[in-house]
Amino acid sequence: FPVENIRNFCIIAHVDHGKSTLADRLLEITGTIPKGNNQQVLDKLPVERERGITVKAQTASLIYRYNDQDYLLNLIDTPGHVDFHYEVSRSLAACQGVILLVDANQGVQAQTVANFYLAFEAELTIIPVLNKIDLKNAQVEVVSDQIHNLFDLDKKDILKISAKQGTGVEEVLKAVIERIPCPKFDKTKPLRAFVFDSWYDRFKGVVAHFAICDGIIKEGDRILCNSTKKNYEVTEIGIMYPDQVSTGVLFAGQVGYAMMNMKNTDEAKIGDTFYHENQTVKPLPGFKEAIPMVFAGMFPMEHSEFLQLKSAIEKLTLNDRSVQVRMDSSPVLGQGYRLGFLGLLHMEVFNQRLEQEFDASVIITAPNIAFKVKIKGEKNIKQYGSEELLVLNPCLMPSIDIITEYQEPMVNGTIISPAEYINSITELCLNHRGRLKDQSYIDDTRVLFKVLFPLSEILVDFFDKLKSLSSGYASFDYEDAGFEITDLVKVDFTLNGREVEELTLICHVSRARDMAKRVCERLKATIPRQQFVIAVQGKVNQKVIAREDIKAYRKDVTAKCYGGDITRKMKLLKSQAEGKKKLRMIGNIEIPKDAFIKILQK
Ligand code: GDP
Ligand code: MG
Repeated sequence: FPVENIRNFCIIAHVDHGKSTLADRLLEITGTIPKGNNQQVLDKLPVERERGITVKAQTASLIYRYNDQDYLLNLIDTPGHVDFHYEVSRSLAACQGVILLVDANQGVQAQTVANFYLAFEAELTIIPVLNKIDLKNAQVEVVSDQIHNLFDLDKKDILKISAKQGTGVEEVLKAVIERIPCPKFDKTKPLRAFVFDSWYDRFKGVVAHFAICDGIIKEGDRILCNSTKKNYEVTEIGIMYPDQVSTGVLFAGQVGYAMMNMKNTDEAKIGDTFYHENQTVKPLPGFKEAIPMVFAGMFPMEHSEFLQLKSAIEKLTLNDRSVQVRMDSSPVLGQGYRLGFLGLLHMEVFNQRLEQEFDASVIITAPNIAFKVKIKGEKNIKQYGSEELLVLNPCLMPSIDIITEYQEPMVNGTIISPAEYINSITELCLNHRGRLKDQSYIDDTRVLFKVLFPLSEILVDFFDKLKSLSSGYASFDYEDAGFEITDLVKVDFTLNGREVEELTLICHVSRARDMAKRVCERLKATIPRQQFVIAVQGKVNQKVIAREDIKAYRKDVTAKCYGGDITRKMKLLKSQAEGKKKLRMIGNIEIPKDAFIKILQK
């Protein structure tokens, strides 16, 4: 294919607006997959199929005949959920244009806005497409106006389709060819291959996804990795059609997969450049690192499974570079990791993928977010290495005596909702410490809010509340807005006066009492009664702010054995002793490990 006949494009949209369905139709029309009951062909991961969402951008190459010429169209299907924006911006780097899909029934939603700006800032051609026009409530005119008002796109350029029924989908392919420019890559220059995705295949080892920016790459070539300077022989190369189809060669402007007998998962880092041996080329700029927002401990179910967990995490993080990994350990849970995620859904999906794709069973601790503190005293600053510290683990926060300032992460939120919910949404935002920055109508009936929130306030139940107060009509999206000075406290928990460090948490002053109460209630519900009363307390600066008591309970397993059966009695005592092995002792209080897991989990 000459470069002029190649188009690289993405489909971007709010969740459920029909990206994956449109991708299915495009694959069918171009004969890439047979017509029939294709559903979300590109959502290959089990977690995607179960949850019905896309979490990984996927590539497929299509061949389409138009005006007597064959075109190679490289399509990237992207996730819509805010936690996976990183995937979207990564995909955009390999494209020249996007299809901005909007559900004609629901109209422009918060993630439509966010995705539009990602594409706009990347200076890509944007093809606006209204989907689901087959639905009887489709509001083609209203939504066209929204698109025009918000994005300044011409109404006559908006395509109207039904991805489900296939109506108008052919027009989409034509628009892709006519409106999106071909990639500006040069076949005659030395090879530059950009890794924009990579993963670990159980059978084939490491597989890299290349966007070929200059030159030609063939099977048998010896290529060099820019960051490690290691060299490899290309053993297989090809395109995703939609599964791997070996072509033996890739040219500038194409995207495809490559295998190079890599044994280690960190050898094909996303964002890296590969080139031919003996050539010197300027590496391509890598991706901006993703900024993790939510942190949690991850431990193996059994200590002995640590190495298995380690290898699973290494393999999965090859495919998901947005996860931050650090070693961690805990007295109860042993050796493990502290991982940073882009959001709670991201954390859940990562956990599910570890279990489904790598057979690792793990314990995840309650998530927390990162805070910053400033400290005083020359000696302290020297000891901690800096005046401003990022605190990822609440247990590791410096003593409050030396802290001069606290900062918490903020986000810029976008909410789009029917106007009738303005009051209740405003109230909800205020209750979550939100500060309204802007409010504007995007058409006669819908309002767009811009609200600055502390990240901690929107992480847990904000979205659910928003959905329920608006009968499901409001949508929400957010992006990082840096740190802001605030007032935080550290809440410690004690059992009969002894601290349980795994439970320490940091929160805003105004939330301390509620949080402490919740954890104490949970502890009461999960710790089994023992032979004495246990006082469960939540404290700030040694001052008790929440308390629950676990009543005493006399349990003697041998009481059931009346009389003389001594062997039975021994057996029972033995099994009781074995049960105790998995205990964490806090003073003289025994906490079974599984109770601990329940408390620590979300
Ligand atoms: P994604 O999250 O953007 O990938 O959305 P999906 O492709 O998974 O589609 C979400 C839902 O909308 C699915 O139940 C689809 O069957 C449905 N859907 C997609 N396109 C259309 C359409 O044109 N008409 C109708 N009625 N439903 C559609
Ligand atoms: Mg999808």
